[in-house]
Amino acid sequence: MSSNDSARVLRSIRGMPTSDGAGVRLTRVIGTPSLPELDPFLMLDEFGTERAEDYIAGFPDHPHRGFETVTYMLDGRMRHKDNHGNEGLLTPGSVQWMTAGRGLVHSEMPEQESGRMRGFQLWVNLPARDKMSAPRYQEFAPERIPQLAPAEGVGVKVIAGTVDSVSGPIQQPATDPVYLDIELSAGTAWSYRLPEGHNAFAYVFEGDVSLGEGEASHAIELQQLAVLGGGSTLHMRAGAEGARLIVVAGRPLREPVARHGPFVMNTREELMQAFVDYQEGRF
Ligand code: FE
Repeated sequence: MSSNDSARVLRSIRGMPTSDGAGVRLTRVIGTPSLPELDPFLMLDEFGTERAEDYIAGFPDHPHRGFETVTYMLDGRMRHKDNHGNEGLLTPGSVQWMTAGRGLVHSEMPEQESGRMRGFQLWVNLPARDKMSAPRYQEFAPERIPQLAPAEGVGVKVIAGTVDSVSGPIQQPATDPVYLDIELSAGTAWSYRLPEGHNAFAYVFEGDVSLGEGEASHAIELQQLAVLGGGSTLHMRAGAEGARLIVVAGRPLREPVARHGPFVMNTREELMQAFVDYQEGRF
């Protein structure tokens, strides 16, 4: 692969500590003043704690409209319930890709009183034509997520996208997402070809990694997000302690975004309508 096709780090960003729901402590990485969005991604939260008081209050009933929430559990158990009668338990290694569409009201509550809770929630925008679609769940237990070893010292869980002709279970034609959980042992290198024209980022949640090729490579430390661009082939090499990172990409929608809290529409009028519909119980 020619080096001019290499993806490089355009920016690296650290998340900011915040709290959401009924006081759950988390790190917001996308959806902050330094990175308000990365089309089609509206938000990325990392939650990770051993302290029950950081997560025990959970996320009681709240609405969503106009986008998708993607919860990837690493440790811990979370129960979700919505006002359409859907309910499920997210266990370690499972993924829930929830299309809120025209709206639902749900809760996401920890199903444990102690121990470690760790994972990510990503918000993915929907195109105008799908914002008022029926709510839908794509939920997968860990054994339904392909785990590959594409090279020695490399482990990849394919949540969405394709690695070595193996595709993850998530289907979303609008944004054609890639979502990989990549583990690299100390000093190991691997490269992955991102879909052309997608926006992409990497977020390191264990160890550290260098991204990019040769002199253009860039060290990304623990809990840093790298905005990627410039080429399609992402070269990565773990540092001395190995690394674990998510690599996420999606086709940008390039549509106007009108957002407030849990509603993400295209215009201010649609946003106002979302508030009215929610208040009048039409979710
Ligand atoms: Fe939610």
